[in-house]
Amino acid sequence: MTDCQHCHKPMKPATANLLCANCRETYWTLIRQLGHVQLPALRSIMLRQARIGTPTHTPNKGNAPLPIDTHAQDLIAESEAWLAEQAGKIRTAYAGYDWRKAWYAIISNRHTILNMSTAADDYAALEHIIRRNEQALTPEDELIILGTCPNCDSMLTGTPEAESVTCQGCHREWAAPAIKAARDERLWQVRITGTPSDAAKELKRYGLTVSRNLISQWLKRGKLSHATPTEHKRQYTFNLGELAALLDCHR
Ligand SMILES: [Zn+2]
Ligand SMILES: [Zn+2]
Repeated sequence: MTDCQHCHKPMKPATANLLCANCRETYWTLIRQLGHVQLPALRSIMLRQARIGTPTHTPNKGNAPLPIDTHAQDLIAESEAWLAEQAGKIRTAYAGYDWRKAWYAIISNRHTILNMSTAADDYAALEHIIRRNEQALTPEDELIILGTCPNCDSMLTGTPEAESVTCQGCHREWAAPAIKAARDERLWQVRITGTPSDAAKELKRYGLTVSRNLISQWLKRGKLSHATPTEHKRQYTFNLGELAALLDCHR
């Protein structure tokens, strides 16, 4: 066995390990992060019974991706189940531990965990959990859609001022300005049906700030040749690319 079971890169020198040195390191960091940072943070959110973020209003006919709307409780349950499963693999009795004890059992058994025959699958499952937790722990209004990963088509999100972005899917790093430019090109293929306010909210998800009043003005002045009225009052089918381009001229 010479390829890492996680990143599929050849391992040099060849070892009996399933994961390469890099992946072992990252996997271990994620395990520590889950018990040390994420679970305590999620639990305190749950105790305050706070909803994470605000539900995003999605217009009926928009074809944009679904808003992130996850409850802390689901994330906690999934995280704890992962810890219980791993702890149980170390010793069957550990599976019944509460999450903190399970986590301690795991971090005290680094060698066992990293060399488990299921390590690659466990790592992949943990990555998914960590990603969801991370998204939930970042206030939604601080994240914007930067674009799409040129390598694996995953959605790339980040803060508006991000200089670079790492894909959660394939872990490749990209320069944010180029990703955004490609995204704005692609926005020409995205239509959204709703009021000017809906369109403004949708653009905000991409970090593009425009007021609904300005969109209404553009409509009145006939500047939006790609916007078509619907049978509903004040509702149009907008072309997001056109709105983004006009906004660009407006700056
Ligand atoms: Zn690897
Ligand atoms: Zn990717």
